[in-house]
Amino acid sequence: MPRLVMKFGGTSVADLDRIRNVARHVKREVDAGYDVAVVVSAMAGVTNQLVGYCRDAAILHDAREYDAVVATGEQVTAGLLAIVLEGMGVNARSWQGWQLPILTDDAHASARILDINGAELVKRFKERGQVAVIAGFQGVHKETGRITTLGRGGSDTSAVAVAAAIGAERCDIYTDVDGVYTTDPRVVPKARRLDKIAFEEMLELASLGAKVLQVRSVELGMVHNVRIFVRSSFDPPEKINPRDNPPGTLICDEGEIMEQHTVTGIAFSRDEAQISVREVLDKPGVAAAIFGPLAEANVNVDMIVQNVSGDGKTTDITFTVPASDYQRSLDVIAKAKRAVGYARLDGATDVAKISVIGIGMRSHAGVAAQAFKALAERSINIRAITTSEIKFSLLIDAAFTELAVRTLHSLYGLDKAA
Ligand code: ADP
Ligand code: ASP
Ligand code: MG
Repeated sequence: MPRLVMKFGGTSVADLDRIRNVARHVKREVDAGYDVAVVVSAMAGVTNQLVGYCRDAAILHDAREYDAVVATGEQVTAGLLAIVLEGMGVNARSWQGWQLPILTDDAHASARILDINGAELVKRFKERGQVAVIAGFQGVHKETGRITTLGRGGSDTSAVAVAAAIGAERCDIYTDVDGVYTTDPRVVPKARRLDKIAFEEMLELASLGAKVLQVRSVELGMVHNVRIFVRSSFDPPEKINPRDNPPGTLICDEGEIMEQHTVTGIAFSRDEAQISVREVLDKPGVAAAIFGPLAEANVNVDMIVQNVSGDGKTTDITFTVPASDYQRSLDVIAKAKRAVGYARLDGATDVAKISVIGIGMRSHAGVAAQAFKALAERSINIRAITTSEIKFSLLIDAAFTELAVRTLHSLYGLDKAA
């Protein structure tokens, strides 16, 4: 029988009624002849609450214990869904990460999946026709046996990894929107749902701020060629015919996409901070003296802008870091002051990064220039710019985030017809 993975996020399992709704989606696919593995998130708000408990217990806490605490949310949902499915006459069993097992490395709180034993699931499909309800977000370190978690939003990654492990025909990601949109539909009501999006574009959208899929899930999908389909759990379960094309977005290879636009989507992130190192000596080794210690401190530096010095002596270097690493980064650079030799450090946390993404940019020039003009007409100042083959990103004042996203969304013809 063909195999299917169905993943349900937090709002889709927010309470028992929503879990019953999920069970009806699952039953529909079982009745249609699929062997089903379900991956569930914690009930809406639960992971945040658990993270809060850890923080309140001690600001600096052991990541192994953080994982022991935050992994519990998914355990509850998996058990409840298995109970509800059994009550509906669907044979089901829950599985935690350590039980399958889902083996990971030991990067607690942001672990990577190394291997999943899909054979046990397949055996149960064959012998008992049993639905596997798997707790997302969690795994177990392959040597210590300690529970790990995969980073926020990690259930998406659990689902795609399970789909690869059991050779699923598709990995359906059920969420609270009915697909991937040209930008966050909660911020831009005129955003349009995309029927298909290429892995490369989805990877950029996700890593540049669209939280609809965790970045690693898209990476895994790309490597293992898993067909990922983003759809809504809020569509009434019984009204959907699994044989028809239900509404949603397929993430697939570029070659499968017929209709090609220059720009596919716009992502944004307010989780950015800007740091400017002023009047650094314009000589070899300065960039290494700044970015070396930041890398050692595990700070993920993103946009980097350096001026060509006017007087041949000093220049400014500006870059961005995640807002949560802002203070730590300032401290690191202050410590390296003697090696770097700068005059001043400036910074700002009220900044946002807007990114425009599209494979079509490979073959179109002047796409970014249009954005500069449109933002200038609205008096939005651009602090920094980076470009790559299929995207460009602009750093602006956070207060203008929505205006900038809407402006660019219209500019590139992404608004849906009124
Ligand atoms: P889940 O709890 O199901 O994992 P998430 O909250 O993680 O759901 O992701 C779904 C949310 O992602 C949507 O509610 C939407 O606001 C947001 N989102 C951001 N960018 C996009 C986009 N381009 N397309 C669709 N949703 C997006
Ligand atoms: N419950 C986890 C989180 O909120 C994982 C997930 O929902 O994907 O981050
Ligand atoms: Mg999510």
